[in-house]
Amino acid sequence: MPVYENTKFILEKVGSTTLVCITKTVEPERINEAIQAGAIIIGENRVQEYEDKHNDILPCETHLTGHLQANKVKKAVDLFDVIQSIDSLKLIRIIDMRARDIGKVQRVYLQVNIGNEPQKYGFKPDEIKYAITEIRSLRNIRVEGLMCIPPFVPPEQTRSYFRKMKALFDEMKQENRDNIDIRTLSMGMSGDYRIAIEEGATMVRVGSAIFGKRKY
Ligand SMILES: *Cc1c(COP(=O)(O)O)cnc(C)c1O
Repeated sequence: MPVYENTKFILEKVGSTTLVCITKTVEPERINEAIQAGAIIIGENRVQEYEDKHNDILPCETHLTGHLQANKVKKAVDLFDVIQSIDSLKLIRIIDMRARDIGKVQRVYLQVNIGNEPQKYGFKPDEIKYAITEIRSLRNIRVEGLMCIPPFVPPEQTRSYFRKMKALFDEMKQENRDNIDIRTLSMGMSGDYRIAIEEGATMVRVGSAIFGKRKY
């Protein structure tokens, strides 16, 4: 797949919306083609995979977009500029402790289980406000956004979930003070990023439309 051309194409399509290139299973040489084409943020789902690759990747901002286990928090705080996949208060409290140990303020997004799906990670939409209240006292955390992975439905049906996320985002921005600074709404992937942008995404996360189908 022509990664360089694909990246240019997607960057043009998303315009002023921030693009995160999702680079799980992609080797560093091909990630670097995307960066050379103008991508400035990459997203990885597994701490270990990114640790193995990171020395071979050109300078860029790095986001963790997959579920984070407590035993990987130390490495994640060392390696990632932003952790998008905050899905419990327990996790964010551990991250706060690790960040304090190394004198870092960790930038994070809260993951919202917008479809209220039992098997999915993330806060339920009606838990977000309480979570923000609890997080306000964590001095080594800064909440900069909300992220979601909507239910797996045909692209056009994701629209209603994106719309719900935008309403929640606008509501939670009212909470901005102290370490709460919500300004990013991360939603939309290869199949539905155009719809997400129409519904107010400020950041999209695109993998296969840039790198081709993933080989696991
Ligand atoms: C894999 C993944 C993406 C990108 O998916 P594509 O359909 O390949 O664009 C985006 N966000 C998360 C959290 C992912 O795991």
